[in-house]
Amino acid sequence: MISLRQALLTWYRQSGRTLPWRQTRDPYAIWVSEIMLQQTQVKTVLPYYERWLTLFSTVQALAIAEQQQVLKAWEGLGYYARARNLHRAAQAVVLKHNGVFPSDFATVMQLPGIGRTTAGGILSAAFNQPIAILDGNVKRVLARLLALPVPPKRAITQLWHCSEALIDPTFPRDFNQAIMDLGATVCTPQQPLCANCPWKEHCRAYNQGIQAELPMSETRVPIPHKVIGVAVIWNDQGQILIDRRRQEGLLGGLWEFPGGKVEPGETIEACIQREIREELGIEIAVGDRLIVVDHAYSHFRVTLNVHHCRHVSGKPQAIECDEVRWVALAELDQYPFPKANLQIIEALRKGSAKDEG
Ligand code: SF4
Repeated sequence: MISLRQALLTWYRQSGRTLPWRQTRDPYAIWVSEIMLQQTQVKTVLPYYERWLTLFSTVQALAIAEQQQVLKAWEGLGYYARARNLHRAAQAVVLKHNGVFPSDFATVMQLPGIGRTTAGGILSAAFNQPIAILDGNVKRVLARLLALPVPPKRAITQLWHCSEALIDPTFPRDFNQAIMDLGATVCTPQQPLCANCPWKEHCRAYNQGIQAELPMSETRVPIPHKVIGVAVIWNDQGQILIDRRRQEGLLGGLWEFPGGKVEPGETIEACIQREIREELGIEIAVGDRLIVVDHAYSHFRVTLNVHHCRHVSGKPQAIECDEVRWVALAELDQYPFPKANLQIIEALRKGSAKDEG
């Protein structure tokens, strides 16, 4: 155990990554980075992290911000529940803990959006507490180190025990960061660079020559594909109708162009007309296709078939959403939209530039 820790820490001091959230001990900044990194790669997170700390430099600043501002700052990063929870948790830190981020594991775990790995990540990085973590990188490294004969998902308790047993009691901050770096840069999903690994002497997978086959994967069920009809509805004033999604559920609180799932045997045009009648209570005329956008979420993928539409009659009502609004094309960038919708906005801008040209 001791030699594993020492080998990893020595490697980390020579080869660890320099990342902005490692230059601080401010639990708020570290917390923001941990949440952003939950489902997103470091290179994507970097600009968001810097911008976030400029916009909301303290937990107090985040707590008093409007949710729309918070979602706008998160726009494009995906998994928006993370932003909504971070915002709620900031309000809880201000109200319940006088604006001081708690340093006790059980209290931290009660904050919205913080699970065991995130709590361990924050407390070890900010306060050097010996609390283990088990993110995707750590799972992979440990599954190989132990030559785990089942998919990691089925051995979570064992992997947590292993992470807890390994963590260095004197240098937990460096240890947790080191094992994440090892997973991100050496023990990579494909073709791990075992020759450069400080753990190769102890690694069961490497010593059995099976590192490329581990971790074992679950048999994958094919991910569903949803075909969606989407309406860009124009009124006589040249404004476009957008709606704000319900708070609960996927992409909650974000704005979008209205639409819905195409039923079997239905044309895209008929789907758009039906969805708009059901969801907004208005009649429209469906016109030309603007763009087709493919987008993958974690558990399904969508194809958005987007059509220009003209408002015919009725006052839009928020039947299946929280709010509807008519806005000018130039105002769209004031609202937070999901990534797939940003491509629609881009296509609208290009179209309008062409018209003017
Ligand atoms: S020896 Fe190879 S498989 Fe084992 S931990 Fe190191 S990089 Fe991963």
